[in-house]
Amino acid sequence: MSDHETVPAAVEHEDEIPPDHPRYTDLVTRHRIERGVEKGITHLQGMHAEGRGSAFDYLLGEETTETADEAERAAAAHLLSADQPVLSINGNVAALVPGEMVELAAAVDADLEINLFNRTPERIGAIESHLREHGATAVKGLEADARIPNLDHERSKVDAEGIYSADVVLVPLEDGDRAEALEAMGKTEIVIDLNPLSRSPQVADVPVVDNIVRAVPNMTAHARALQDASEAELEAIIEDFDRERALEAAESRIRNGL
Ligand code: ATP
Repeated sequence: MSDHETVPAAVEHEDEIPPDHPRYTDLVTRHRIERGVEKGITHLQGMHAEGRGSAFDYLLGEETTETADEAERAAAAHLLSADQPVLSINGNVAALVPGEMVELAAAVDADLEINLFNRTPERIGAIESHLREHGATAVKGLEADARIPNLDHERSKVDAEGIYSADVVLVPLEDGDRAEALEAMGKTEIVIDLNPLSRSPQVADVPVVDNIVRAVPNMTAHARALQDASEAELEAIIEDFDRERALEAAESRIRNGL
């Protein structure tokens, strides 16, 4: 039996997971979601979402594909050329990539907004503290004083000066109904989701079919590389990106390993 097979299913701290383990990212991801649930950041439903994501990531080869990388570059170009970009944070996003979202927000000068499917004051408070522990200085979505049209009351809540008025929104692991409603509001929508057939990436202007733990740092790297790009250069990257081709490439990889 190799050392890898002796890694216990549940570890106290992610440092106990050996970085050379073949399923390292998956084990770390699972561990962070479990901790998120324990800390009141992530809803139990988030564990199901994580399980689905993990299966798709396995089929995608647990790596950022060339088309996902192109999508991440296009996403960075959209965020950099936006008037008011907002990055949406839910319970899984907060548990998996809190510091990475803070870094991306700084790289593209975007606001962070807590945006929850299962919204309670306790979870909002826990996520806000968690983001601040990871370097966030301003967090929107605490009041959620505006409503997305055509959604039921709880799921429609957003910040008037955040997602409601944003022109470009990054909504990772977003619920399909909300993704559709945001699209109907005319926003440029960037979705990170490992399932290319899910409604959220299907309606996105930029569907990023990649694990959020790889996608967000890669978007930040692209944003930094494009920091001095002209509006025309950013526009060319945005124009070059083909959302249909990106979705097809991801589906083909999952179905046929191609
Ligand atoms: P729909 O969007 O059609 O309502 P759904 O009900 O399957 O689809 P949700 O439960 O709302 O989806 O969200 C979970 C989604 O998040 C899944 O599509 C899953 O693949 C994706 N997901 C889970 N973990 C990750 C991750 N670490 N990185 C990227 N995507 C992930």
